[in-house]
Amino acid sequence: MKKALLNIDYTYDFVAPESKLTCGEPGQKLLPYICNVTKTFIENKDLVVFSIDLHKEDDTYHPESKQFPPHNIENTMGRELYNDLNNLYQANIEKDNVLWSDKTRFSAFAGTDLEIKLRERGIQELHLVGVCTDICILHTAVDAYNKGFKIVIHEQGVASFNQAGHDWALAHFKNTLGAEVIN
Ligand code: ZN
Repeated sequence: MKKALLNIDYTYDFVAPESKLTCGEPGQKLLPYICNVTKTFIENKDLVVFSIDLHKEDDTYHPESKQFPPHNIENTMGRELYNDLNNLYQANIEKDNVLWSDKTRFSAFAGTDLEIKLRERGIQELHLVGVCTDICILHTAVDAYNKGFKIVIHEQGVASFNQAGHDWALAHFKNTLGAEVIN
């Protein structure tokens, strides 16, 4: 079964200490694991998609504007991939199995061409890493389930600022979405 890694929202604004919407330490701790799994997928010629939240400044039409402080604003440092993951991305940016997809909502599928990119490559199995477990990972997994993809969640590659939400989402992936949760 052809597989892809969806690398979701692992940016400064969501991960770095004292950033706008940080997951804090649980998020920062994921860095080595996410870099390793990303490297493995790239080396094995499997697809890696960086699905990254994109906002414009003062976008009054976006529903998140009323809920959260400004984050992942285009062309800001806050939207860059966190730490070593950015170096890894920059070193592999030219490879045809490395894609960037601007996210418009919590789910990586909402308002993007992600599904068509996966379908044209015959990909049936999606591996998810990034943040937050109970927000963007969850919404992406629900859409992936509804579209008939097999889902694999990397437990050491996902985190949230909300431990109870994180735990609930892991159980939901397994028990309701039929996902494989691996260590
Ligand atoms: Zn956002």
